Amino acid sequence: MDRALESRITKLNDRGPADGKCVVYWMQSSLRAGENPALAAATSEANRRRLPLLVLFSIDPAIPSANRRSFAFMAEALRDTVAKLEAAGAQVCIRTGDAVENLVRVGKEVKPAVIVTDESHLNEGRSRREAAAGRAGCAMFQVDGNVIVPVRLIPGEQYAAYTLRPRLAKLLEEHIRPVPQERPGRRAKRLAWSGLDPGEIMQTVDRLSLPEVPSSPLFRGGETEADKTLERFVEERLDGYAENRNRPELYFTSDLSPYLRFGCISPARVIRRVLERRGELPEEVDAFVEEAFVRRELAENFTFYDRRYRSLASLPDWAVRTLDDHRKDRRQHLFTLEELEEGRTGDELWDAAQREMLVKGKMAGYMRMYWGKRVLEWTRTPEEALRILLYLNDKYEIDGRSPNGYAGVLWCFGKHDRAFAERPVYGKIRYMSPAAQRKKFDIREYIRRGSPADIKR
Ligand SMILES: Cc1cc2nc3c(=O)[nH]c(=O)nc-3n(C[C@H](O)[C@H](O)[C@H](O)COP(=O)(O)OP(=O)(O)OC[C@H]3O[C@@H](n4cnc5c(N)ncnc54)[C@H](O)[C@@H]3O)c2cc1C
Repeated sequence: MDRALESRITKLNDRGPADGKCVVYWMQSSLRAGENPALAAATSEANRRRLPLLVLFSIDPAIPSANRRSFAFMAEALRDTVAKLEAAGAQVCIRTGDAVENLVRVGKEVKPAVIVTDESHLNEGRSRREAAAGRAGCAMFQVDGNVIVPVRLIPGEQYAAYTLRPRLAKLLEEHIRPVPQERPGRRAKRLAWSGLDPGEIMQTVDRLSLPEVPSSPLFRGGETEADKTLERFVEERLDGYAENRNRPELYFTSDLSPYLRFGCISPARVIRRVLERRGELPEEVDAFVEEAFVRRELAENFTFYDRRYRSLASLPDWAVRTLDDHRKDRRQHLFTLEELEEGRTGDELWDAAQREMLVKGKMAGYMRMYWGKRVLEWTRTPEEALRILLYLNDKYEIDGRSPNGYAGVLWCFGKHDRAFAERPVYGKIRYMSPAAQRKKFDIREYIRRGSPADIKR
């Protein structure tokens, strides 16, 4: 097997391969057929054993923060990927309900020799994989396929981007190459299992009883959409990205985060495509690589090494101390969760950002920083601010419930950052003043473009 691919794989239990009838790829967080290391590993294992490959996916409405918006995006992505997988010769089984129970039940029907699954770095996914590995009757492996450099190759939690950057740079060349993907063999041998008709994915998700957050009017899931989004960015917005990404009224960023979040596109492919233009646009390319490679993998490193990633306990000591020192400082305004959720604070810029997230399902990157910082001074305690920010981010952002989401929210409290001059409420945590924003970009234009009648991507 390819060495770089091998370095992404870890074994989840101490069982050996069973005398089975197929290899199962339990797809969870990489909703794509193209450049998918877990799929590549499972296919190579199936071909080596001359067994058919079965891809299993569970649509589980009980996962934390499940809602109509994120499930609509997921269902579109799944529909696209299933078509591509079947065209490539894989058999695909889709079921609804608890993912571990489904894996066990389908396992009884198809008798896998080996199970391969996606590795993700959040607690729910880890617990699910541990539970499944304990109940699997055969060897089970996970593949770290949604980062460029596998997390385990970076030793320990990194303090900030500057400590991670040189380590990643050394490993980039080896891990950015596409993984070799074989075609599944044994097409003729159909396995017998029970599952949904892939043509019914959208209707099935429509019928689930899910919290009603309306699906995004702008973002459609799937690898086809992800590829188009990448091409549009490279052709139309990469030139100018370094400066304009911090001007939210211009909508100049890539819009790739929902696709990266659901694994609809390989991060290595994204970076390779952007690097093709380095000779011509060095500054723009470097700025993008810093975000989509260094910052993104810093967030993965954080959630992998510190399981308290939803808590202030994960902050550096200086940040914990300074927040505590200012715990009793007087707050000028306090808002309830409802007032914040509905964007009724009276700070027009903040309210517009909240509305953008509510309606589009994706707030501009620059605004997320301002949005998170302000809540700290509008709530009674840092703990309350954190709780509200995580709730809103997880509920409304299509790219939420992700390492980037948790690292991003905790950055507002000092994670991966340094200390600044001390001030009320914030202490030494970096502050973003409303007045300074007026000088940085055209806030009127951002507020105007965010009105529901004029929502643009
Ligand atoms: C309070 C707060 C909450 C955030 N919540 C999320 C979230 O839920 N999901 C999410 O993906 N990102 C989150 N971010 C990080 C960042 O704002 C988004 O990744 C970015 O806005 C996504 O838009 P884009 O793809 O158009 O960005 P681009 O500027 O085009 O960036 C390309 C890619 O780089 C990565 N990236 C960019 N900025 C960051 C960053 N600061 N940290 C880590 N990775 C980054 C993303 O994968 C992004 O898709 C949050 C940041 C803050 C401050």
